[in-house]
Amino acid sequence: MKNLFNSRKVNLATLFTSLVAASVVLTLLILTISSYQSDKESLTDTYLSLNYSKAEKMSQSVESLFGSMRTNLETTVRFLEANENLSDEEIHESLELLRVSSGYFNSLSWIDETGVIRAISPVSIGIKGETIAPGLSKDALDAREPSLTSPYTGLSNRLILLMSQPIYSKDGTYRGMIGGSIFLQEENVLNQLLGNDAVEQNGSYYFVVGPKGTLLFHPERNLIGESVYENPVVRKLTQGKSGMEHVTNTKGVPMLAAYSHVSEPGWGIVQQTPYSFLQSSLIEQLLQMLKNMLLPSLFLLLLSVFIARKLAAPFTYLGNLVDQLAEGKTVSQPLKETLIKPHWNREADLLTKSVAVAFETLERNNQRLTESALTDTLTGLPNRRKLDEVLTEWSSEDRIFSLLVLDIDYFKSINDSYGHQKGDETLKELAAVVQEIIRPEDYCFRYGGEEFVLLLPETNRLAAYQTAEQIRRKIEKTSLIPDKTVTVSIGISEFPTQTRSMAELFQKADQALYNSKSEGRNRITISDVPG
Ligand code: GH3
Ligand code: MG
Ligand code: MG
Repeated sequence: MKNLFNSRKVNLATLFTSLVAASVVLTLLILTISSYQSDKESLTDTYLSLNYSKAEKMSQSVESLFGSMRTNLETTVRFLEANENLSDEEIHESLELLRVSSGYFNSLSWIDETGVIRAISPVSIGIKGETIAPGLSKDALDAREPSLTSPYTGLSNRLILLMSQPIYSKDGTYRGMIGGSIFLQEENVLNQLLGNDAVEQNGSYYFVVGPKGTLLFHPERNLIGESVYENPVVRKLTQGKSGMEHVTNTKGVPMLAAYSHVSEPGWGIVQQTPYSFLQSSLIEQLLQMLKNMLLPSLFLLLLSVFIARKLAAPFTYLGNLVDQLAEGKTVSQPLKETLIKPHWNREADLLTKSVAVAFETLERNNQRLTESALTDTLTGLPNRRKLDEVLTEWSSEDRIFSLLVLDIDYFKSINDSYGHQKGDETLKELAAVVQEIIRPEDYCFRYGGEEFVLLLPETNRLAAYQTAEQIRRKIEKTSLIPDKTVTVSIGISEFPTQTRSMAELFQKADQALYNSKSEGRNRITISDVPG
């Protein structure tokens, strides 16, 4: 049960370490996320404004291009109006001249007021003399004013954009129009201006839409002529607005789009970058950042773990120590010395000191308890329990020693005559007398009642006799009780010469004491030495 309970607890070092590791990783994560967010915002802004400035520039170019084209057409018409008598052939020649010199139009034609194509450059188109069909070009003819059509499929089966300028004779008669065509899906002035490699390496590209949201220019030529009106950016362009925003194009691809309205032809230019490119460059940036942060983070982590372990160490140590103590183990001196070592952490230092003080008190109390458990309270002499300890120790060391058993003669009568209290005092004083005589290495135990046991190390029983005799005489002479002589009888035995058995050793001393008593008391008997 205890083990099960213990196993669920996390130790402080692990706890500190995990805490530190978790905070380092978390910091890294937060840093990464916030840097990703801010990078994303700044990159988005950068791409949007970059795209916007490109779109703006292109819209200016397109506007000025169309201005020049219109001027060219107007100049030609003015020339033709000034020279009314030119033959169809001559008109064709001037159209040819304009087309080749300006390079603005894929074809130039004169369509008379009835819709017949009277002249066309280049001739190779081969529709001279045909009548235009109802449609955008016919509408332009009938409008009798300068116009620019939306893309339409012309007689030559091409996708065409037509810029037209009406011709009048001097008397104001309408003579039809001069139309300049741009073949949207072929090499033309637009793609010369805007460039053919319209897709950049990062996937950015632009496209041009007409006033109704029809594609006039797009890197994928087959899309030219299609309506992309559903694109929210295109819708804004058709409303004459410019701007930049996140948008999902007609194919469902998220884009960072900037759009610029070209006021003159009423077109719009959209420059956009796929959002996926931004993301991949963001991830690349992020990986780079992580790579840069890896080593410092690792260092920080290791340093923190090291400090955490150092911090936890005294607590772990104290915990183990207290645990050992609780299990009843003793604490060795070197351990204690490390324990009272000062610690740089204030709490650890305080705790260490308190525990050290507690240990000392505990030990002192323990010592006191042990001492009192081994001491006789009346005489202050060591008791039988201590006697057992000393005997066990000495016999195991194979020491030579004498055992003396001392008994007060007629003690019962002392008690009876002077009272128990006086008897006690006599016992105390006798103990003091004996202790005065014996050597520091000798022991005198209170064995019980009025019996004492003495252990004299490195002393044979004959030498012990001298001490015993000293004691006997001294007691006899000392007035333990006024006007009364108190005497003692003693029996002596010797270890290990006489016996190695403790029981027998006591038996021999007891027997000797008994002999002293029976032979008249106030005497000493050595075991196995005939009287
Ligand atoms: P002897 O040894 O000479 O044969 O006679 P004795 O009177 O000493 O013999 P015994 O052993 O019969 O009596 C011992 C007496 O010691 C009995 C008891 O009243 C007394 N006694 C034992 N312990 C104590 C003690 O702690 N204090 C006092 N005051 N008397 C004690
Ligand atoms: Mg006795
Ligand atoms: Mg006695």
